[in-house]
Amino acid sequence: MRHAARPRPARRRATDALAGLPLVLGTVVAVGATAPAATAAASSSPPCVTQVRDNPITQFTDHAELGRELDRLVRVSEGRVTYREVGRSNRDREIWAATVGTGDQVMLLNAEIHGNEKVGPDALLRVLEWLGTSSSREAQLIRDRVTVVAVPKLNADGAELDRRGNDRTWAEVVEDFPQLATAAPAWNYITRVQQGDDYTSRPGFDLNRDFHADLDYVPDPADLPGDGSQFGFFISPESQALRDLYVELDEQFDGVDGFLDIHHQGACVARDDTGELIDVAVDYPPLPDWEFEEGGKYAPYENAQDPSRQLAISAFNGIEAAGYLGVRYGHAPERDLPGQARSAFALNGTSTVLFEIRGQTQTLGQRGRERFTRATVAGVQQMLRDAATGAVDRIDPSTYDSLPGSITATPEGRATALAADPVEID
Ligand SMILES: [Zn+2]
Repeated sequence: MRHAARPRPARRRATDALAGLPLVLGTVVAVGATAPAATAAASSSPPCVTQVRDNPITQFTDHAELGRELDRLVRVSEGRVTYREVGRSNRDREIWAATVGTGDQVMLLNAEIHGNEKVGPDALLRVLEWLGTSSSREAQLIRDRVTVVAVPKLNADGAELDRRGNDRTWAEVVEDFPQLATAAPAWNYITRVQQGDDYTSRPGFDLNRDFHADLDYVPDPADLPGDGSQFGFFISPESQALRDLYVELDEQFDGVDGFLDIHHQGACVARDDTGELIDVAVDYPPLPDWEFEEGGKYAPYENAQDPSRQLAISAFNGIEAAGYLGVRYGHAPERDLPGQARSAFALNGTSTVLFEIRGQTQTLGQRGRERFTRATVAGVQQMLRDAATGAVDRIDPSTYDSLPGSITATPEGRATALAADPVEID
């Protein structure tokens, strides 16, 4: 098995020639953005970009392409990969879940809950293809011991708009839940310009704030508008679809063993030890440990914080072993976001991991797509491998804090500031 907190390889150093030099008109900076020497990693990590909407995104997989790709995977895997519709988006697009493997552990992999975070779908398609077609002993082992269920594009409407939120008005919510007629709109209702996207005439919800640990929760006007430190409301069809799938798997497998939610973060995140721009950050649920103690707000729930740390370390190890740059996601101990999907599922006993790929589509666009996809796949593969072999249970969760941390690289190319609490990212 691979151990957590291995000694850091000395192979990656920012070169003086590149570090901090603006490459293009001052909007692109290279902060240690050098290619890992002599590794299989795809090209170099793209530089830090702060200008929004400059880079194209056409390489990514859109909704129609996803449907065709899933059909193809069924064919080439000779039926090992199957898929089905598990719900419809607010604008009536299919939400698909694909399954591969027959094991009695179940791992639920989710991507693009935020519609401008597009590496996740491509990475999940690649994992499905590998598991569906590979005759390697490793793929066979995972298929035998794990059932992998992947939702590559949960926020199908937001994805088509290339924006974070879904495409749903408060009036539509009230239509579905008349008891909310006099309630204030939920706090995660976006009606302004955010991340360069104008929601004023086309509002929507941040779906990753719409989850509740009580999976039978029915929206109650007394709970609105709520805030980030409280549970969400299951008021959007996309979050309902993921909740329903989770409940179904929970019953079928007597518990969902693991949940991965793949996101993107800012484009200028660097490692705190080497200053290098990173590929993928990992994280455990933003639920304060002390709230699980007697009298704490999460005391009535399951505590999956340590198993989540173990699974996050596993993913980090896979990212690093493949030659990519992993890091701990910015996470203050008091960070408390129970309305996130990963938090709600963790409170039901599932080990949950967050991936935060560097750069969202409004900044990096498709730059670095191949590299980030491979880094993400490497992390997922290691998680599945360690789940299949049981190695994940032997990882020491207390070593989590010894993984390299995140810092924010400044536009001048200096990686100095501690990463701020990423309120509008995960
Ligand atoms: Zn996100």
